[in-house]
Amino acid sequence: MTDLLDKYRDLKARHDAITRHFADPVGLVNDRILSPTRGVINGREVILAGTNNYMGVTFDRRCIEAGKKALEEFGTGTTGSRIANGTYGPHRQLERELARFMGRRSCMIFSTGFQANLGMIAGLCGPKDTIFIDMDSHASIHDGVKLSGARFKTFRHNDPDHLARQLARHDPGDGGRLVILEGIYSMLGDFAPLEEFVALKREHDFQLLLDEAHSFGVLGENGRGLAELAGVEDEVDFIVGTFSKSLGGIGGYAVSDHPMFDVLRFAARPYMFTASPSPASIATTLCALKIIENEPERRARLMANAERLQKGLVKRGFRLGVTEYASPVVAVICPSEEVAVAMWNALLENGVYVNLALPPGTPDKLSLLRCSVSAAHDEEEIDHVIAAFERVRDQFIPAAD
Ligand code: PMP
Repeated sequence: MTDLLDKYRDLKARHDAITRHFADPVGLVNDRILSPTRGVINGREVILAGTNNYMGVTFDRRCIEAGKKALEEFGTGTTGSRIANGTYGPHRQLERELARFMGRRSCMIFSTGFQANLGMIAGLCGPKDTIFIDMDSHASIHDGVKLSGARFKTFRHNDPDHLARQLARHDPGDGGRLVILEGIYSMLGDFAPLEEFVALKREHDFQLLLDEAHSFGVLGENGRGLAELAGVEDEVDFIVGTFSKSLGGIGGYAVSDHPMFDVLRFAARPYMFTASPSPASIATTLCALKIIENEPERRARLMANAERLQKGLVKRGFRLGVTEYASPVVAVICPSEEVAVAMWNALLENGVYVNLALPPGTPDKLSLLRCSVSAAHDEEEIDHVIAAFERVRDQFIPAAD
């Protein structure tokens, strides 16, 4: 019999090779977190430039006080699922507030954004249905598709023409069709061309699910996401999102106007059979939602910071995932995995933490140093990040003649 962990020998060897010379990118410990933009790693104070903390609310006093109050009033955990003992008043309140904010009839909250995708996709689709996904979809979307048992097709990244050809050739039989997109793609930071995808609905029958994990709070006049920015909210049947980025907590949600949406509360297993979000997490998320709603200046600061980082890096010759428009995800494309690992480590030594993103978790097998910008960064911090990238690049990438 084969040892079940044998299949990971190559993966382990790759990890060992990195950690022989460098800090462990997947085992990194934040010894302390000082603020949304500062932490202490390996005893050194660093600027946090890879947190997804887009609105910078994690240390907001109002959220912290709301979380403390919830701990006092409702205890540390719910110790149960929503269909058993796990629905508390604040869960309902957050669902009402999120539905109102998103301008939708219904909202369901989940224990993580990952589970929101699993629950929605496997709740909506079964073996008779067909799901069409972008090839750069997040792991939770791929896993939701697997869990559903539905048939699926993968179209080229952000390519509505390719999807149109697949839809035209496809016979749905007696099943439904679900197309899944993301607002901002998490690795390169590019947006879906949503108007073009939505236009396909006129010719081809399908329902549309949009994951706004990285775009909620960030895009649109009110922060409702890419669907708001693109002016196509009415065409998106289901929106999924997370509390773990702009809302600074942990949990996930889905909203819809579908009159039968709530049936998923007793059909979606990743909603039904797991403990509901903790009272403190619900309370901080409710508070963060109010902040997003009442302090639009945060969105303006975030985008100004994103533009500053993007322009600064482009000016110094870096190749980025997106340059046509400002995105809060700024991904530096490295010439090789070895350079990416060495630069990531040197950035840390220069007081800057970013995400090291390597294949197979990246599109087109790219090796990335992925930054995510926060409204809480100040210009000096952004400039420090740019300067550190430049210093480190000069150390590891020989200048072209
Ligand atoms: N969808 C996308 C596009 C994501 O990037 C992520 C998290 N990185 C998730 C879903 C899952 O969110 P959570 O962290 O709340 O599980």
